[in-house]
Amino acid sequence: MFSWPLNKKDTTSIQLTDLNRHQDIGANCLLLKMGPFTVVVDAGLHPKKTGHKSTPDFSKIDDFSVDYICITHCHLDHIGSLPILARTQPQAKIILTSPSKEILPRMLNNSHSVMLRQREELGINEYPLYTRTEIEYLEQRYFPLLFQKPHVFEKNGEKLEITLYSAGHILGACGFLFKYKHRSLFVTGDVLFRNQKTLKGASFPKIKVDTLVMETTRGLTETADATADDEMRRLVDVINHTLDRGGSCLIPVFALGRMQEILFILHEARRNKKLKNAPIFCSGLGVSLIEVFDEVSRKTGLVNFHKKILQDLNAKPLPKETYEGGTLPDKPSIYVVSSGMVIENTPSYMVAAALLGSKQNSICFVGYCDPETPGGKLLVCEHNEPFFFETIPTEIHARAAIERFELSGHANREELLQLVYDMDPRTVVLYHGDEEAREWVFDELVDQHPNLQVINPTPGDPVAL
Ligand SMILES: [Zn+2]
Ligand SMILES: [Zn+2]
Repeated sequence: MFSWPLNKKDTTSIQLTDLNRHQDIGANCLLLKMGPFTVVVDAGLHPKKTGHKSTPDFSKIDDFSVDYICITHCHLDHIGSLPILARTQPQAKIILTSPSKEILPRMLNNSHSVMLRQREELGINEYPLYTRTEIEYLEQRYFPLLFQKPHVFEKNGEKLEITLYSAGHILGACGFLFKYKHRSLFVTGDVLFRNQKTLKGASFPKIKVDTLVMETTRGLTETADATADDEMRRLVDVINHTLDRGGSCLIPVFALGRMQEILFILHEARRNKKLKNAPIFCSGLGVSLIEVFDEVSRKTGLVNFHKKILQDLNAKPLPKETYEGGTLPDKPSIYVVSSGMVIENTPSYMVAAALLGSKQNSICFVGYCDPETPGGKLLVCEHNEPFFFETIPTEIHARAAIERFELSGHANREELLQLVYDMDPRTVVLYHGDEEAREWVFDELVDQHPNLQVINPTPGDPVAL
């Protein structure tokens, strides 16, 4: 893929290297060099890869060279490799929001447990990639910043200003504005502009920047006519119809953010007597995160979710023995369980295997699924087509209703194009999107802005900005 050559003459030039090994939504990690400052934005783990291949290419970062590791938010594709990076960069401060500080260890400890299990089950000997002690050790290095409060860092007599802006998406998510000398660079992280039930939409700076580094998750998704409210009503209708015909309903979700949003929607519907009574089961990690949501909600109002919602709904964690033994309750139930992309061996994968074969049941997708994941494949699976659950292993004819709802946690593509108009950058760098999604955004931007430099970086190759 084309990338612009380095301009060695401009001493204030900023150098960016995308350390995700593939042009996709994987192990997010950006290396930024601004004068004497070395900054890494995110250190993710690829959801579809295993072992060392699932980490960013940290070989491009010299040991002891990073000043700041900036965390946009706590989904694993952004933080899953943080302890590995932190190990070779013991001097680096970890800049993040206060909610992320609380969420981060829970996500990493859960990931650690999953790796221990995969070591056993799949024989991946390099797992776990880090220890619990390394996760604990991160805590001493957190440097939380408030939204919209610039902080100036100094090194060798030079200054770097860093400001965090709310990115919507999930609790604690932020975009980063970097100002070095006369240069400014904004990294969106994962962004959602619309308000969710539990969280306000992004509030990005109303300024012009030199460089905009922009996520492109929904570059290939046509924006639906239906509003989020329409889709929430339709979701409740589908659940009610499923329960009416004696079936159960699976809603695969990310444990962080999406699960709480869906529970809020179900709670509101039940309070308004719009949702029929049925047992609700959730993933353990999502339930444990609700403690953080509850506390942040009470103390700061940054999120709108109280644990009373869980009690009101009488939602229970889904015991592992239940889905692993393939003995789901007979009673029609609602499963709001992770993973969102129905990744192998996760609760949603096992529940999908149990529900897919019967036409009474429904599987409701409410977020992005990579086309190569089981979730992505289920979405394009024809009715009655055999579907192979590779790691169980079992083949099941797809008789359940499979529905998709436009309730994505990411900005739609028109909003991304609008952001480029609003920030009016000289250069846009595309990231966090599949190849075709990036291509769509690339072509649109080149079309709409003849003087704009648009870069789709080749993984591992530095570009000068
Ligand atoms: Zn995310
Ligand atoms: Zn992401």
